[in-house]
Amino acid sequence: MVRWDCPPRCLSPHVSPVRSHFEELTWHPSHGDGRVRVLRWTCDCEPVFYELCQASGLRFLRRTRRAAPGRASVAESDRWQAQETDEMWIALLHGLVR
Ligand SMILES: [Zn+2]
Repeated sequence: MVRWDCPPRCLSPHVSPVRSHFEELTWHPSHGDGRVRVLRWTCDCEPVFYELCQASGLRFLRRTRRAAPGRASVAESDRWQAQETDEMWIALLHGLVR
């Protein structure tokens, strides 16, 4: 089930390449806690995709890197209040944080 082809199935946004002045986020290994709601996501046609997640009142960004088909490493940002995380998500899409 490898889906590397871009069109025509790209319905979700792609992250822009990072800007020269981008801010590096701290990424932690995922705890894989079950009660996570995924609110937004980037297109998974790329080897790295991101999700905007909510868990117990706080939000965070989740990054999934696929090393090979069926093998992925998942990392999570710090957790923030909803509005702050939503702004972080926009910055991520625009290549301002990564
Ligand atoms: Zn795509």
